[in-house]
Amino acid sequence: IKSSRDFHPEDTIIKTKHSIIGGDHFVFMAGPDSIESAEHVLEMGKDVQLAGATILRGGAFKPRTSPYSFQGNGEDGLKAHRQAADTLQMDMVTEILDTRDVDLVDQYTDIFQVGTRNMQNFALLKALGQKNKPVVLKRGMSATIDDLLNAAEYIAAGGNDQIILMERGIRTFDNKYTRNTMDVSAIPVLKSLTHYPVIADSSHAAGVSKFVEPIGLAAVAAGAQGLMTEIHDHPKEAFVDGAQALTPEQFKQLADKVRRVRTAI
Ligand code: PEP
Repeated sequence: IKSSRDFHPEDTIIKTKHSIIGGDHFVFMAGPDSIESAEHVLEMGKDVQLAGATILRGGAFKPRTSPYSFQGNGEDGLKAHRQAADTLQMDMVTEILDTRDVDLVDQYTDIFQVGTRNMQNFALLKALGQKNKPVVLKRGMSATIDDLLNAAEYIAAGGNDQIILMERGIRTFDNKYTRNTMDVSAIPVLKSLTHYPVIADSSHAAGVSKFVEPIGLAAVAAGAQGLMTEIHDHPKEAFVDGAQALTPEQFKQLADKVRRVRTAI
């Protein structure tokens, strides 16, 4: 089993142009939920970079619950995202939904993101296994830890071992006050079972902006090697998921607290 610590005892460290992910390094991936416009993603990128982020997130292909909701700006979004990342000298991470888009997204992004809904899209995982590029693999909202590790194995089996695992909250019996439940315990468990970096997304775990910081700090205290955070300058006007977006100022505060937690542990 390639993802197992028995196979590879040392932490895997993934190096991109502007970031080092894994081991004792900590990485901030932040940006808007979706790429709204070239100007907007550039502005958001500037803000998150000032707070310490080296990876600019944003979706051009959005996996929406309703087919009538905004589905993302597609290739125009990818272009705008790439341009902002290049201007700011940041890495780009964006979600890929469909095997048919692998080569298109590959032309633009530095890091592929597989979302919670596609964690067991084995055709997609196999296609990404053929690429020589990092993949952020988000835990399925109803997936066990072994399901997640087996999904990672699909990518590794193809020869791509640049895998970053992400806990983003799972469905439990009480999802009234938060969108999902951040499975904090999954973080140390995953780190004991696998050598791949383990990072956390408290935006999707919380679903509500006021809980994004405390849940993110809990993930960091539990050993997460990075955080993914959604931000927006006008959350109420965000195209997607404004309720969970931090303002740039709130993100800066979170990033400062993360650094304090990391010094303390
Ligand atoms: C996202 O990060 O944009 C996203 C859709 O996340 P998830 O797959 O965790 O819902």
